[in-house]
Amino acid sequence: MEEYLAGLNDAQRAPVLQKDGPMIVIAGAGSGKTRVLTFRIAYLMDQGVDSFNILSLTFTNKAAREMKKRIADIVGASEAKNLWMGTFHSIFAKILRIEADKLGYPSNFTIYDTQDSQRLISSVIKEMGLDKDIYKYKQVQSRISSYKNSLITVKAYFQNPELVEADAMAKRPRMGEIYQHYVDRCFKAGAMDFDDLLLKTNELLNRFPDVLAKYQNRFRYILVDEYQDTNHSQYLIVKALSDKFQNICVVGDDAQSIYAFRGANINNILNFQKDYDNVQQYRLEQNYRSTKNIVEAANSIIDKNKTKLDKVVWTANDPGPKILVNRLLTDGDEGRYVASSIFENQMQHQLTNGQFAILYRTNAQSRAMEDALRKRDIKYRIYGGLSFYQRKEIKDVLAYLRLIINPKDEEALKRVINYPARGIGATTVDKLVVAANHYDRSIFEIIENLDRINLKINSGTKTRLENFMNMIKSFQVTNQTSDAFVLSEMVAKNTGLLQELKKDGTPEGIARIENIEELLNGIRDFVEEQKELADETGTLAEFLEDVALATDLDQDTGDDDRVALMTIHLAKGLEFPYVYIVGMEEDLFPSGMSMNTRSELEEERRLFYVALTRAEKQAYLTYTQSRYRWGKLVDAEPSRFIEEIDDQYLEYITPVDTYRYKPLVDTDIFGDVDKSKLRLKKPISGSPPVSHKPSEEQLRKLRKLRPVSNGTTSTPKTNLFDGDLVPGTIVEHMRFGKGKVLQLEGVGQDKKAEINFENGGIKKLLLRFAKLKVI
Ligand code: ATP
Ligand code: MG
Repeated sequence: MEEYLAGLNDAQRAPVLQKDGPMIVIAGAGSGKTRVLTFRIAYLMDQGVDSFNILSLTFTNKAAREMKKRIADIVGASEAKNLWMGTFHSIFAKILRIEADKLGYPSNFTIYDTQDSQRLISSVIKEMGLDKDIYKYKQVQSRISSYKNSLITVKAYFQNPELVEADAMAKRPRMGEIYQHYVDRCFKAGAMDFDDLLLKTNELLNRFPDVLAKYQNRFRYILVDEYQDTNHSQYLIVKALSDKFQNICVVGDDAQSIYAFRGANINNILNFQKDYDNVQQYRLEQNYRSTKNIVEAANSIIDKNKTKLDKVVWTANDPGPKILVNRLLTDGDEGRYVASSIFENQMQHQLTNGQFAILYRTNAQSRAMEDALRKRDIKYRIYGGLSFYQRKEIKDVLAYLRLIINPKDEEALKRVINYPARGIGATTVDKLVVAANHYDRSIFEIIENLDRINLKINSGTKTRLENFMNMIKSFQVTNQTSDAFVLSEMVAKNTGLLQELKKDGTPEGIARIENIEELLNGIRDFVEEQKELADETGTLAEFLEDVALATDLDQDTGDDDRVALMTIHLAKGLEFPYVYIVGMEEDLFPSGMSMNTRSELEEERRLFYVALTRAEKQAYLTYTQSRYRWGKLVDAEPSRFIEEIDDQYLEYITPVDTYRYKPLVDTDIFGDVDKSKLRLKKPISGSPPVSHKPSEEQLRKLRKLRPVSNGTTSTPKTNLFDGDLVPGTIVEHMRFGKGKVLQLEGVGQDKKAEINFENGGIKKLLLRFAKLKVI
């Protein structure tokens, strides 16, 4: 164990070694919070705590798996097996299955995803005979979701005149009834939605003292990562479970709170001290993840937020290269630039795909990146959300396009024959399928010959089928004379797809429209490119083939070395050597929808802080000069967040080699952009960002004279290279002092050295943790 503890600095070791009692670790990005949690669990087990008695709550299940692996490395796989680690939702679903009967549920209850919930709500609204334009099912669903996350049950809803009135004012007086019906129907179906997993857990722990006692006794030690993003429902669960033993350790960073829009409550972190007795507060200040330039730049950004806890983050790492800022003409260029930059970095530094991440504010931005990466044959993976071409709305458009090219394509036909709804029901489709099989023809051919076949369908249905067929045929005619872009735009409009989504009006609906617009932009790019090549025409068939091959390759998950593409929200807690933050433009990032109040803007800024602090070695910021938004090419302005970074950490580049268009003028990379916008401001008065180890006096000033439980005092040691160490080498260890290497064993991650220390006798240390310095 000791050798593992040597892999922590003093400030990190303190919360690991404090076995009992409530504690909170508040610290900036990359300072080892997650590492502290991991080591703490290993240490507890080393101290004899049964893994059965430990509960660890993480932000993603992936994070939980990684931590578990790490712990297994330290304490052994069999020891780590019983650990309960995972997200709130996954852990409490497990508990609810065990205790389901108490709440009247079967233990094999179904978990409804958001789409299931929305479908159910939509049918409830219909059955109640309500106007679905007033009671929009998605809005109703998100309202019910927020009730549940605030622990407002149906009964509580009706007892709260304010809520009832608010809904009445919003012209939705029957909101409570819908809520009631929805809850009843879920219960009858033996189903819980996502929010129920937290709500019902609270109900379980409140209503059944014996159940509460059972889990309190079981989870003697509770640990929570990313505590700043817990919502009220999660907070109450943690509070209830830890109430008896109060062995609760939470870690978080107020500067990385980015889920307020979904009910996360930063007060959970701020009030922690009040909720428990004798809370130990720890701070970590040394960042191990990123270069000095990145750490200092990130400090200079978060400094602009008024609402924050005072924190110091510094690093002993190299300054590293400056953050590269690049302006591109269009998002297509942005994609090409990012892809070629990744390619060049790989060539220059022998890097794998997995060392790169592309982060964006909105999912729609992935399309340009995907196209460019594919062209360069760089494998990528989209995390969270589907790959662009797999998304429902995109598949719907593509299905129409496929049908135009090949009307025999049965799957495409089935997908769109009644979407958007045009009164062709499932029974009719079944009849068509039967006939198609009987006559050995495609469904489309059956529709073409309805007059000659007796299908037993009424004349109304027959007309609707013929209208559908004629619509597809008219597209086919257009396809003879127009390019793929003109045709696709016509399809999106004339089929009613866009109108359908516009009616919806929720953020998801808007995101879908944006995605379709992205698809159209991509098709236009494709057509233009093909036209530039003399022998190609940019037809729809060519485009579809391109996409089909792309998705085929996508599904080939033979190896795992891929560039990671994800939204910044998803990137929380992760780290990558090279990070590209794209779309650094006003209205996109910060998002145009989140600039109304200072607190919204501050949340966007925290999001930027999260994005930048994912980078270990090099960060890139890109923005475009103009971007298609809402179907129009609009001038884009560089994000205010670029201006907010202190000038000294940035370097502007002109990627002349990646431009298809007239290259930007070498002498004036900003072209006609208002230069005053780009004159980067000096840091605002106040504490300058630091990243070298400050003196004690500087530290005191930076901490605004607040006493701190633990500060780092040791000088960071140089990491040594494997080859530097042979038997006989004299080394220095942070705690054991000087020593002589006796022998070496193992390879790679497992390489160990037996060393005779002046102060510690003979010790065997794992090199990757020991941080030895060769003297
Ligand atoms: P975030 O706020 O982004 O979640 P974090 O505070 O959880 O960051 P970690 O992910 O735990 O930080 O640590 C950041 C990186 O620094 C990891 O690669 C971790 O292994 C490394 N690291 C942390 N502490 C040390 C240490 N004492 N010695 C060596 N490496 C360390
Ligand atoms: Mg972390």
